[in-house]
Amino acid sequence: MGKFIVLLGPPGAGKGTQAERIAEELSIPHVSSGDLFRENLGNETELGKKAKGFMDSGKLVPDEITISMVAERLSRTDCKDGALLDGFPRTPFQAQELDAILKKNGNVICCVPYIMVSDQDLLERLTGRWTCKAAGHIYHQTFNPPKDSGICDIDGSALYQRDDDKKETIEKRLAVFHEQTAPLIEYYREKDLLVEVDGTQPIEKVTEAILKSVQSKK
Ligand code: ADP
Ligand code: AMP
Repeated sequence: MGKFIVLLGPPGAGKGTQAERIAEELSIPHVSSGDLFRENLGNETELGKKAKGFMDSGKLVPDEITISMVAERLSRTDCKDGALLDGFPRTPFQAQELDAILKKNGNVICCVPYIMVSDQDLLERLTGRWTCKAAGHIYHQTFNPPKDSGICDIDGSALYQRDDDKKETIEKRLAVFHEQTAPLIEYYREKDLLVEVDGTQPIEKVTEAILKSVQSKK
């Protein structure tokens, strides 16, 4: 059976930062719905055009677009032994759909690390976030600065600030998290998959805690 892990947490909790590390450590692909949308925006696909308005205003992209996009990604061969999901599911309905997608191949979710950070810290993290154009590597101007300002340490590409990392949009995204995504905390706790992780620790400590949580649910 494959190893399917859902990283849960509000925008800015560190899901993308941790996913890069955990996916490498566990040799499973990192599947980020936000990254898939941004790739579509960059390539100006029909899907990207449909998603843009929702993303710019901090709202969730409708399910009929999002679920099929993630299902297609999970159907590729590199996901046959597992995947680290980041940003999906974001509603109880998406969670049920994910269960159904995995079930088709006899798979289930093995663990849901929930990265906890307060809204005040999240605002500071997101307003200072810099993302690499080429591959989405993540930095923070104070908490995780690149060696050379504006340039990705890993692939040398330019860093940019996401359009949705503006104060007003961040506030909307946090409200959407509390209203639509937070019910997943109880959804996964009831299934005994949730492990709470203190996301305010330094990046390496959070990685250790997530790896430990995955071990605990083996
Ligand atoms: P998410 O994918 O959950 O939206 P990111 O991984 O993009 O979050 O992290 C948001 C911002 O917070 C980035 O600028 C990142 O460098 C920074 N960050 C991530 N983890 C930590 C941490 N443990 N402590 C301080 N800053 C962090
Ligand atoms: P993220 O990169 O996870 O911060 O996501 C950026 C934006 O993409 C979100 O604010 C949503 O507009 C959209 N998005 C990402 N994942 C989902 C999802 N599972 N459901 C709906 N919209 C999503």
